[in-house]
Amino acid sequence: MCYTLPTCEGCPFSQRAFSSLKGNNFDSDISSVGIDGCWQADSQRILNEVMVEHFFRQGMLDVAEELCQESGLSIDQSQKEPFVELNRILEALKVRVLRPALEWAVSNREMLMAQNSSLEFKLHRLYFISLLMGGTANQREALQYAKNFQPFALNHQKDIQVLMGSLVYLRQGIENSPYVHLLDANQWADICDIFTRDACALLGLSVESPLSVSFSAGCVALPALINIKAVIEQRQCTGVWNQKDELPIEVDLGKKCWYHSIFACPILRQQTTDNNPPMKLVCGHIISRDALNKMFNGSKLKCPYCPMEQSPGDAKQIFF
Ligand SMILES: [Zn+2]
Repeated sequence: MCYTLPTCEGCPFSQRAFSSLKGNNFDSDISSVGIDGCWQADSQRILNEVMVEHFFRQGMLDVAEELCQESGLSIDQSQKEPFVELNRILEALKVRVLRPALEWAVSNREMLMAQNSSLEFKLHRLYFISLLMGGTANQREALQYAKNFQPFALNHQKDIQVLMGSLVYLRQGIENSPYVHLLDANQWADICDIFTRDACALLGLSVESPLSVSFSAGCVALPALINIKAVIEQRQCTGVWNQKDELPIEVDLGKKCWYHSIFACPILRQQTTDNNPPMKLVCGHIISRDALNKMFNGSKLKCPYCPMEQSPGDAKQIFF
């Protein structure tokens, strides 16, 4: 299978990202930091699924389908549809066509309101502004259209006042009025971002493709990983890096890659993992499960921070 590199802005697969990598990392032997057998059987299928989802997100449906066929994946039609629709709406928004996004926002109004989204209002606002740009010829239509602001009067009173005030300047043109800021071109880029963010939230998807995020994180971490591996081999202490879900040192990926809090057990001084999760004691203090198991005496556990005695069975697992 062969396909050209997508050139979408910000995508780590873009040509630019590859060329910036070349100088520093691409000549190194990166195979040394790979994990043997990592992409066998089930993981291979999961990787293919993640790639297919990424292509759906990017609107590259034909590439996704080709990959499905070649890897023998069967993707349910219902999994694909939301991405197809989102991409269609986003493509229209990029060329300043608001209708598909407006129809989508109106039909999902209740759910959007529930998540405090101002998407529908902002779409109506942009439509209204596009009418203002037509001058007095659109005056009647603009007044008519203002009815669409009604459901948003409570939360967007100030914005609506500004929009209505701008009508006074229709004759001389908004561009020659104190309301010229309404024509700011940046709001078209903003509406694409707002739509993507709110639509993804509605569908329970992350805004960025998980594959893009993992790939970017990998690019940042790779030089550090190659260095660690070299040091480990030099000093012949290969046992340091034997756990698959943990690195021997912390690799700083920058704030952009901070997603959730981590918890280090104050007793064992280790970061908690799926196998050793944080546990909240009855008194409210939190320690890891391994520490809890090591500390209880008979059927009683004494909290290491306050002297409260309790039953270890009452501790509850904490999820971040
Ligand atoms: Zn306590």
